[in-house]
Amino acid sequence: MGRFDGRVAVVTGAARGIGFGTATRFAEEGASVAIIDLDETAAAEAAAKLPVVGGAKAVGIGADVSNAESADAAVERVVSELGGIHVLVNNAGITRDNLLFKMTESDWDLVMGVHLKGAFLMTKAAQKHFVEQKYGKIVNLSSVSALGNRGQANYSAAKMGVQGFTRTLGIELGPFGINANAVAPGFIATEMTDATAARLKMDVEEFRKLNAEANPVRRVGFPEDIAAAVAFLASDEASYITGQTLYVDGGGKLG
Ligand code: NAP
Repeated sequence: MGRFDGRVAVVTGAARGIGFGTATRFAEEGASVAIIDLDETAAAEAAAKLPVVGGAKAVGIGADVSNAESADAAVERVVSELGGIHVLVNNAGITRDNLLFKMTESDWDLVMGVHLKGAFLMTKAAQKHFVEQKYGKIVNLSSVSALGNRGQANYSAAKMGVQGFTRTLGIELGPFGINANAVAPGFIATEMTDATAARLKMDVEEFRKLNAEANPVRRVGFPEDIAAAVAFLASDEASYITGQTLYVDGGGKLG
């Protein structure tokens, strides 16, 4: 028996990286899973790789979470193709890093649009189903960068915004059987951090090694590390936890 048997889990930005790792975990534990990503072909290819069990299904849906119509349509497709929605993971993300004096208005708007407005729009679309059925689990992806990070004024503000958003969801939606929590990863080896290495003109392996050496547990994180935390918070084992942000960073933020 899996923790998510009979459940439908939606993970945004899940064609790769942390999102794909998380979608994989839900599938392994019995859920039907919808992978939402910008490119429908990439989403469908990723969904086809999910290790679904029993009678569970997987679908890939192309959507831009920062667009209200697109987010609404994606949630309605999940409900009609998978028969409901029980778990929403707001994971889709982008970076447009630059020092403040070089950061453009569009760098700011794009990052806010995907992380913060995207989480708002997807949550709004899902919550009406959650409230109706008096059951729902929301997990939002924040970041250690919420605490401040050079070159990431836009991303840090969005990720701290996600934490405030999550606390408010906890307060407003708790009476309806809905839990909302956030996971704040440290350095996770994905294309996002590979792109940071490229921007810093560093070799990917060297960049990972330096980050591992600076971390109390002496390694970088992997999508599976985040998937485990997200799955716990989305499970019924965590039903007395809401509005919280769990840092999953090897103790990195302590340093
Ligand atoms: P990733 O490998 O870059 O994957 C992000 C995915 O989101 C991509 O498939 C991307 O699609 C998709 N996406 C971007 N904009 C979207 C939109 N508007 N609508 C739908 N999908 C969209 O990133 P990751 O490293 O797995 O990160 C996942 C989440 O964890 C993000 O929220 C990130 O901020 C957070 N996080 C990551 C780290 C880390 O170290 N990796 C640390 C802390 C927090 P395209 O490829 O088409 O753009």
